[in-house]
Amino acid sequence: MFNTFKEKLKNTISKLSKKIENETLTEESTKADTIDEIKRDDLVEEIKEHADKGVGFFNKVKEKIITKKLSKEQFNELFWDLELLLLENNVAVEVVEKIKEDLSKTIIEKQLQRSKIEDLIRDSLRNSIISLFDVEQINLLEKIKEKRPYVICFVGINGTGKTTSIAKVAYFLKQKNITTVISASDTFRAAAIKQLETHGERLGVKVIKHDYGSDPSAVAFDSRVFAKAKNIDVVLIDTAGRQHSNVNLMSELEKINRVVKPDLKIFVGESITGNDVVLQLNEFNKKIGIDAIILSKTDIDDRGGAMISATYVTKKPIIFLGCGQNYEDLKKFNKEELIKNLFE
Ligand code: GDP
Repeated sequence: MFNTFKEKLKNTISKLSKKIENETLTEESTKADTIDEIKRDDLVEEIKEHADKGVGFFNKVKEKIITKKLSKEQFNELFWDLELLLLENNVAVEVVEKIKEDLSKTIIEKQLQRSKIEDLIRDSLRNSIISLFDVEQINLLEKIKEKRPYVICFVGINGTGKTTSIAKVAYFLKQKNITTVISASDTFRAAAIKQLETHGERLGVKVIKHDYGSDPSAVAFDSRVFAKAKNIDVVLIDTAGRQHSNVNLMSELEKINRVVKPDLKIFVGESITGNDVVLQLNEFNKKIGIDAIILSKTDIDDRGGAMISATYVTKKPIIFLGCGQNYEDLKKFNKEELIKNLFE
């Protein structure tokens, strides 16, 4: 995962640290390099001599290794390559700003130890990215126990993997002996209803449908009634996914919200659409308020920016990653694994 990004990130960090080293180099520190060449015995002699004179030799050496501090202007200029790399790999602007801000605090006007600069940058980046996910987490299996039927509504634009993700969630829950019913509330596309029915047949999950063009919230309502009557644990509602800025779509989703009051609203977005997914997330979150995120197609995402950015821009957790076209290709999001994929 993200092999190209990882490689470029490593090189960019390395280049950045070299540039910072050069910028902060003073004449004294250049001289200090020659200390390495002083033979051990000579060094002992020097120490003795200075000790005799009452001068702290090590203090003198320390002074010499100290470098010039980096100004804000210098930092901004040097950060540009890293900034560009992050943006190219779909990291959202606000996330790049946060990473820059965090790094600036450890670099600007700080006394830097030359040999430690690269580690400092890498640690700062790692900590910044980890902290992007500091939001309340959702334990789906625990939540589902709170109520029967537990109603989950899936939103997101067409083609992003919403239907497939619903089928994957149904499969995941089935493995845990949790029963589901699917509401075919994307009544806008006949193909969507058919697609869900095929998944339903394969998974042995009932799909509630009305005619093409009927009221999506009525289908959702019926699905919940069905679940109640049959003692089914979870209702999974599929919804239409025209353009995220489409007014009709948003009012349709708001109506589902009012009629069935879903317990959880999950946004499904494609990791590979990059910055677009952040725009969609913001729009859906603003209009209907989402609770959690599934990012699909991470198996073909070589950039990772969507994964890095989605939670920070919405303050909502990523609960699952879609990682293939089969039902079992759904895995829990793990920030440590993301860090591993980026840095190790
Ligand atoms: P929807 O229009 O949002 O419901 O999207 P679909 O669920 O129909 O998915 C669109 C296409 O993306 C289909 O060909 C899926 O097989 C494929 N797809 C969905 N999720 C994934 C995933 O995690 N990885 C890959 N590689 N393909 C996926």
